[in-house]
Amino acid sequence: MTYVYDDQNIFAKILRGEIPNKTVLETEHTLVFEDIRPQAPIHVLVIPKGPYVTYDHFAAEASDAEIVDFNRAVGAVCQTLGVTADIGEGCRFISNAGEHGVQEVPHYHLHILGGRRLGRMLEKAAG
Ligand code: AMP
Repeated sequence: MTYVYDDQNIFAKILRGEIPNKTVLETEHTLVFEDIRPQAPIHVLVIPKGPYVTYDHFAAEASDAEIVDFNRAVGAVCQTLGVTADIGEGCRFISNAGEHGVQEVPHYHLHILGGRRLGRMLEKAAG
């Protein structure tokens, strides 16, 4: 695979402690923090600490330990935020990738949005 990771992206700077973030959860391989421009009452970003550009890059090249840690962090933070679809009211998981996905920050991240009904997926997709 030929992904090139830009270590000057904003999430790399957050991981190096060069710019602040509002951390919700930190584990060995994963960081969860609040999105700076929330699109819903709950809007957090889950990122691996390793240098992966997109979900497919992470899924193909991350270690089993990183993948397990990331997914367990997602589960834990959904419990913490109360957005599980069983006892909570659910949420949306989004990961934008590349040009067509309109990815702004080239470090893999999973958006978790909740706290209100979000409308149909891609309903207002544009640009
Ligand atoms: P995407 O289009 O999926 O790449 O979205 C990138 C997300 O990162 C957007 O929702 C931004 O609001 C968010 N973002 C950008 N800079 C920061 C930052 N310094 N701290 C937290 N979230 C950020």
